[in-house]
Amino acid sequence: MKQIAILGSTGSIGQSTLSIIRKYPERFRVASLAAGRNTDAAFEQCVEWRPQVMSVATEELASSLASRLKAAGVTGIEVVHGTEGTVKVATLRCTDFVVSAIVGVAGLEATYAAVQAGKPVGLANKEAMVAAGEILTAAARAKNVPLLPIDSEHNAIHQCMRAGEKREIRRLWLTASGGPFRNLPLREFDNITVAQALKHPTWVMGRRITIDSATLLNKGLEIIEACRLFDLPPNAIKVTVHPQSTVHSLVEYIDGSILAQISVTDMRLPILYALSYPERVESDLTFDIASLGQLNFEPPDFERFPCLRLAYEAAEKGGAHPIALNAADEVAVEAFLDGKIPFTAIPRTIESVLQATPETHPATIAEVLALDREARQAAANEARRFAQHASTAR
Ligand code: MG
Repeated sequence: MKQIAILGSTGSIGQSTLSIIRKYPERFRVASLAAGRNTDAAFEQCVEWRPQVMSVATEELASSLASRLKAAGVTGIEVVHGTEGTVKVATLRCTDFVVSAIVGVAGLEATYAAVQAGKPVGLANKEAMVAAGEILTAAARAKNVPLLPIDSEHNAIHQCMRAGEKREIRRLWLTASGGPFRNLPLREFDNITVAQALKHPTWVMGRRITIDSATLLNKGLEIIEACRLFDLPPNAIKVTVHPQSTVHSLVEYIDGSILAQISVTDMRLPILYALSYPERVESDLTFDIASLGQLNFEPPDFERFPCLRLAYEAAEKGGAHPIALNAADEVAVEAFLDGKIPFTAIPRTIESVLQATPETHPATIAEVLALDREARQAAANEARRFAQHASTAR
């Protein structure tokens, strides 16, 4: 029986993880959960799963959840809060496996604490690997702790890499759906609306990652994530646009063989893979090979999607640069979603912030978080400039 901790239990990956645990009660059990501000969902999860520890965002939310549980007669659950609470959830003695699925850098400290405590981690939080990949992977190597990717592309690569040795790999191919603007001419990019950008052709996801898929910055973050997870240089990671999102990624070996992983577009499969690794478990997540039809692959357009170039540059520089890339993007995406800046100002904001980013390499999570805050501040200033520019142009 594997005891599972979930960081980000009320988010989409968290809920998918719980649906897997529900399906395999003889294999997995919930040990502890960390939610955010959604205390209604946290309450229901406490009632259903009876975790030893439940963490929520703030002290106020924790005390209101605790009294609600008491009124409902649900006892034996320790309710904690904040970063300390998340760290407690991640490092509980009885936990065998931690699913790290808190969006953004909020889950960073807890993910690092889990690795330090020797817990295998299933990583759905790509920002953690982008911002602190150098620190996290070094700690994981030192502790001999497996980091199992839940991001579908990296999960596919992890699967394909089991067919050969690392020294036999020539390069990795990350597939990208291309997003909703795959065929949109560059001159129309300035008029892209929020509603258009939120319509992803193949995956249903959160708002930021959907916009990141439209700018291809998501693929950029995944390039950095792949470099860190698989310990390969940026030039060994290639992107191919594959609109059907059926091949989740590929590994090219030195003899010329290319291995691909194909499955349903359903996050429950990479989650099940990570939870049960190194075993494979029977599931009903089948894929009808007859439905494959046509598979297309084309090179990405770096001119229409400058975020890809920015990500390669940040991956090459490492240290503060991937941190700034991620932080600036989050701020710029928010400004775009609020209708303050145009779509094309997202890469411009990121580029200005990166140009002003120092070439330093943080050694601790606290330093990572400080660089993240600085980059956010710089991005907010840049976005304000673009917003003013956009309003005077109107
Ligand atoms: Mg992905």
